Amino acid sequence: MIKQDIKQYKNVWVFIEHNDGKIERVSLELLSKGAELAKDLNCEVCAFTVGDKVEHFAKEVGEYGAKKFYIIENSVLKEYRTEPWRNAIVYLIDKYKPEVALIGATTLGRDLAGTVATKLSAGLTADTTALDIDPSNKNLLMTRPTFGGNLMATIFCPDNRPQMSTVRPGVFKAVKNQTTPEVIKDKYDITEDQVVKKIIEKVQTGEEKVNLSFYEVIVSGGKGMGKKENLKLLEDLANVLSGTWAVSRKVVQAGWAPQSRQVGQTGQTVHPKIYIAAGISGAVQHVAGMKSSDIIIAINTDPQAPIFEVATYGIVGDCLQILPKMAEMFKQKLV
Ligand code: FAD
Repeated sequence: MIKQDIKQYKNVWVFIEHNDGKIERVSLELLSKGAELAKDLNCEVCAFTVGDKVEHFAKEVGEYGAKKFYIIENSVLKEYRTEPWRNAIVYLIDKYKPEVALIGATTLGRDLAGTVATKLSAGLTADTTALDIDPSNKNLLMTRPTFGGNLMATIFCPDNRPQMSTVRPGVFKAVKNQTTPEVIKDKYDITEDQVVKKIIEKVQTGEEKVNLSFYEVIVSGGKGMGKKENLKLLEDLANVLSGTWAVSRKVVQAGWAPQSRQVGQTGQTVHPKIYIAAGISGAVQHVAGMKSSDIIIAINTDPQAPIFEVATYGIVGDCLQILPKMAEMFKQKLV
């Protein structure tokens, strides 16, 4: 591997993922975290993306603190296809040399980050749950669970730039911090006949897609809910509190709910204002996805259940009786 002159690399870049004209929330979350890292590195947080017409995203990335917005517009880049997007992004990174590049760990982001990192011979840490700057040498410290969630590993890349990381939606909070970003439009010449993959049709899959991190209240149920039909109690309480419902992996494995509602290490990471865990034991893999919620209310028949160790408030009792009572009580208070 060729040794890089890493001093040439500056600024924290955040990839702006967009779909059907909308920015994915995780990109805004990463801009907020990127701004903190940039402060520690004494540099700027910048956004970057490619696509057909993407300049109009400048307004929204400015609301979340981006100082510059690097873009390539080309009709061939309208829809995501790995190779042309990768090549355009590698071109941008090679030219402007950011020291950090953050990408959301979405389906698209995971595909893109790996191929970009390989082309650039950069280090990539996937599914990071914490990002910090080492004050002694300014390396990016990327922490992620390992060995089935039982250990946390902190990874750094001292010799190569950019230091790349994918981060799951919901790990960081999107915080507004108004700027007016300078838009840097670059050109990348590519024609449709140079792209092997063709998009013939876009088909919406039947499975419900839920972004749990959008919600301030999540009512979550585990195997203790007893049967699929009882999950309606989660939804009822969530509706009263203007939130949404979620589940543990055992509930998904039982076929009671889709994977898109699963919280935890192999589900979504959330940090709502209120997380209600009903009939959830509190296994490390579940807790990894919800422990940074502001308030955790646990309902469990077993007073020894590990969920009580992370709970702000604990209720020992039958969730099938308590959930409807809570819904009724909040309905009276809130209406
Ligand atoms: P259980 O462990 O069966 O707990 C049910 C709880 O309900 C018990 O505490 C019981 O006391 C209580 N209960 C029973 N009846 C009632 C009642 N009427 N009222 C109130 N309480 C009641 N899990 C996840 O959730 N998310 C993940 O992302 C995830 N990823 C994983 C990744 C790996 C690699 C592995 C190995 C495991 C993963 N798991 C994950 C699974 C995890 O280890 C647990 O098995 C799972 O979280 C347990 O789900 P549960 O708490 O719903 O069920």
